Amino acid sequence: MPTQHPRYNPSHRLLKYSKPWLRYTLYLMLLLCLAFVTLNYLYPLKVNIPYSPVITASDGSVINAFLSRDDKWRMQLEPDEINPVLKKAVLLKEDKYFYYHPGINPFAITRALANNIFQNKKTSGASTITMQVARLLYPQQRTYANKLMEMFRALQLEWYYSKDEILQLYLNLVPFGGNIEGVKAASVLYFQQSPKQLSLAQAVTLTVIPNKPSSLRIGEQNERIVEFRNKWLRYYLAQQAFPVSDIEDALLEPLEARRLDAPKVAPHFAYRMYRRYKNQPIIKTTLSLQVQEKVEQLAYNYMQRLRYQNIHNAAVLVINNQTKAVEAYLGSADFNDFAHHGQVDGIRAVRSPGSTLKPFLYATAFDKGLLTPKAVITDVPVDYAGYRPQNYFGNYNGNVTIAHALATSLNVPAVKVLDLVGVDAFVQKLKQAEFSEMKRKGNQLGLSLILGGCDVKLEELTLLYAALANQGRYSPVKWLQQDSTQQEAQILSPGSAFMVNQILTQLTRPDLPHNAHNSPNLPKIAWKTGTSYGRKDAWSIGYNKKYTVGVWVGNFSGEGVPELNGTDSATPLLFDIFNSIDYNSTDGWFQQPKDIGLRVVCAESGSPVNSFCKNQVLDNFIPGISSTQKCSHLKNITVSGDKRYSYCTSCLPPTGFVQQLYPNHAPELLTFYDAERIPYQQIPAHNPSCRRIFKEHAPVITSPAAGMEYLLEQEERQQLMLHSNTHNEVKQVYWYINDKFLRATPANEKVFFEPQKSGRYKISCTDDRGRNTDSYITVRFL
Ligand SMILES: [Zn+2]
Ligand SMILES: [Zn+2]
Repeated sequence: MPTQHPRYNPSHRLLKYSKPWLRYTLYLMLLLCLAFVTLNYLYPLKVNIPYSPVITASDGSVINAFLSRDDKWRMQLEPDEINPVLKKAVLLKEDKYFYYHPGINPFAITRALANNIFQNKKTSGASTITMQVARLLYPQQRTYANKLMEMFRALQLEWYYSKDEILQLYLNLVPFGGNIEGVKAASVLYFQQSPKQLSLAQAVTLTVIPNKPSSLRIGEQNERIVEFRNKWLRYYLAQQAFPVSDIEDALLEPLEARRLDAPKVAPHFAYRMYRRYKNQPIIKTTLSLQVQEKVEQLAYNYMQRLRYQNIHNAAVLVINNQTKAVEAYLGSADFNDFAHHGQVDGIRAVRSPGSTLKPFLYATAFDKGLLTPKAVITDVPVDYAGYRPQNYFGNYNGNVTIAHALATSLNVPAVKVLDLVGVDAFVQKLKQAEFSEMKRKGNQLGLSLILGGCDVKLEELTLLYAALANQGRYSPVKWLQQDSTQQEAQILSPGSAFMVNQILTQLTRPDLPHNAHNSPNLPKIAWKTGTSYGRKDAWSIGYNKKYTVGVWVGNFSGEGVPELNGTDSATPLLFDIFNSIDYNSTDGWFQQPKDIGLRVVCAESGSPVNSFCKNQVLDNFIPGISSTQKCSHLKNITVSGDKRYSYCTSCLPPTGFVQQLYPNHAPELLTFYDAERIPYQQIPAHNPSCRRIFKEHAPVITSPAAGMEYLLEQEERQQLMLHSNTHNEVKQVYWYINDKFLRATPANEKVFFEPQKSGRYKISCTDDRGRNTDSYITVRFL
């Protein structure tokens, strides 16, 4: 029979047969594991470090920073910001075996304990980097009990985090004196650079200060710091940690650093980003430090000159048209100008746009097929139910092209076109472009909106113009690098955007600054100016293929200044900025898109030529959209041989007549010509023996406004003005009040009458052809 062997069981054998010390060690380790698990449950690790929010520019540099919740400058390192030189210096100095121990280094602890007991001197070498992190996370008095707790926390850290993460925590938390913690804050505040760019001498400086942060203060004890630094540099030399020549250079590098304030570039922007992306330790924006600094400098210098005109504030927004990124954001020219509210963010302030919305109105009209750039519109006095818009310079120009009306920013044609397009339709367009006030109260707006009778923000306007530079596509701004391309909205067709671009590039216009013609550096841009009512806001917004730049100049106090206007107060700064950030742009100019064509039109009307149109010009149009109605700037009239009378089909004599072309002017233009004594070719009076009653082309009563209530001062014996626009051939009109004859006057002349009592009035105007128009108003006496 074979001998019976005990069943093989290693642990059993170990317990039974091994030496007792091994067994006790095993028990101890089990106990320690159990203790760790229990403690881990009772004292969970909490790593919740309040960082100072940091705003970075597109190149990663810190442009602005805010104190952490606990009032520290503690900026979080990005993984790629850990400088290898710094890392090596720290590890060699603090914890050579960092990558090999489990959080505590038993050999170092034993040695330190022995030193403490037998030589009665304190050594700090026993603390691993992990234990230092534990102490920084849970600051405690230095007792043996706390030391044990620290070890436990170190084990916990190692359990939950990788070595690199622990090292990063260490570098984020080491103290540098005062309220500065972590190497990033130290690099930024002491050396004004990213930790990535530290020299060897600077890196070693940052490794020695945390040993005695309160006595090694940069800027105060630089000589002592250099002493320490060089001591450690010589240690690294002995350890052959870095190339000899690097260390020799580092030993000679002077230390001139001192603590500076945290950078405060683009404060309005930074604060906005801070508020918008709260709780993000690093807010990586698209701002270009270079462009921002240029804009800041230019605006600051520029405003020094305007100060003497009592103009104190400016705001500038620069958008990159290709990326939609904000490259410069200047909320006010001088943030620190407390006397003039420099802290107000002019980019988000709600202001009156003046004329700056006009390009979008004309583009909208192009897209609706109503107009083309060479279409002719009348610029004469008009009256929309009491609203009588006036031009900036107070004059009127008679017939003008749309291109001229936009390039010279005429007000009357703009109001007319808005009436044609419809206020609602235009408000809808602006809503599509995210105009906040349009969304809020767009339904309360009237025709005056196109002259600035509404509320906008510089940011909204600039983005709207960026759509012109982007073939009519509107897209929201990109603030952060991580923002993906956002939803675009095609608010204008590429064709209408292009036509507006061409108009806004013209240099023969009144809003070219007075000295610009002499300037050799006129940038190639499309731009539009605006001046709000009361001269409170001066605007100039320009773009080329690369950039859209919005400039606002005025006073945050709302104070108007007689000298303030878009041309002279805002455009020079716009030109300066383009010349500085995009001088001699290499991007070329906008190409004509495929959706527009070129056609021959009559210069008198801008409509496709008719047989009688002699003066022909080329004009852009949108095939399939733009009106194709032929020109009617002249019309054929049958007149007597001596051209004294005109005939209609009812009274045409069998012989003795000729056909002749006469100008087909709009009635309001005739009124204007009469008032200005501008001669025009008149149609002969109609055959006096004609018995026909005409219905078409009845007089249009322009004053008083139909349906309106007029409040009059009875004692002052105020009068009402009567006026009508009549057809070309009309020579005389007859006025009736409540069917009682008042007076006969030559056509287009004004008549006055004094109402005697309150109430409703019927006002009638009959022309010499018997065509009549009635209008009703109410009069009330005060
Ligand atoms: Zn014509
Ligand atoms: Zn007739």
